Amino acid sequence: MAKRYNPNKCKINRNYSISEIALLYQVHKSTVKAWLKRGLIKIDSQRPYLILGSDLRLFLKDLRGINKRPCELGEIFCMKCRSPRIPEQESITFEAESSTYGRIKARCEVCHSSMNRYFRLQELSVLQRHFAVILPLQQKRLG
Ligand SMILES: [Zn+2]
Repeated sequence: MAKRYNPNKCKINRNYSISEIALLYQVHKSTVKAWLKRGLIKIDSQRPYLILGSDLRLFLKDLRGINKRPCELGEIFCMKCRSPRIPEQESITFEAESSTYGRIKARCEVCHSSMNRYFRLQELSVLQRHFAVILPLQQKRLG
C-alpha cells in the first residue's frame, strides 16, 4: 500500500525545512527532496530550503489524489510507480486464466516493470479495443 501522509499534520502558517518535514512525517530527507521534484513548492531557491506549511498541505493532498486516481481506459495500475500507467503496446498479452477470467500482462511504459490486470472474459473485446486505441501511433512510428 502507498503510504498516506496526513496533510493536516503540518501547520499552514509556518515554514518547514526539509529535515523538519522529514521528522514530522517520519520519512527520509530524500523522500522530501523527491517531493520537491514532484512539485512541492519551496519559498525560494536559497538554502536551506524552506517550505510553506500551506504549500506542503496542498501538495500532500494532491499526492493522495494521485495515488487514488483510478485507471482510465487503456491503463493498468503499476505497482512500482504506484500509479495507473499506459502499458507498452508491444508488451500487452491477453491470457485466459479460467473459463471466466483472463489476465492482461504488460510492461509499464514508464518504469518497464511488469503489470497485471485481471478481467472477465466477457469484457475481452471491449478491453482489446481500449488498449488498441493508441496502437496506430506506435505503428506510425515503426512504419
Ligand atoms: Zn511503472
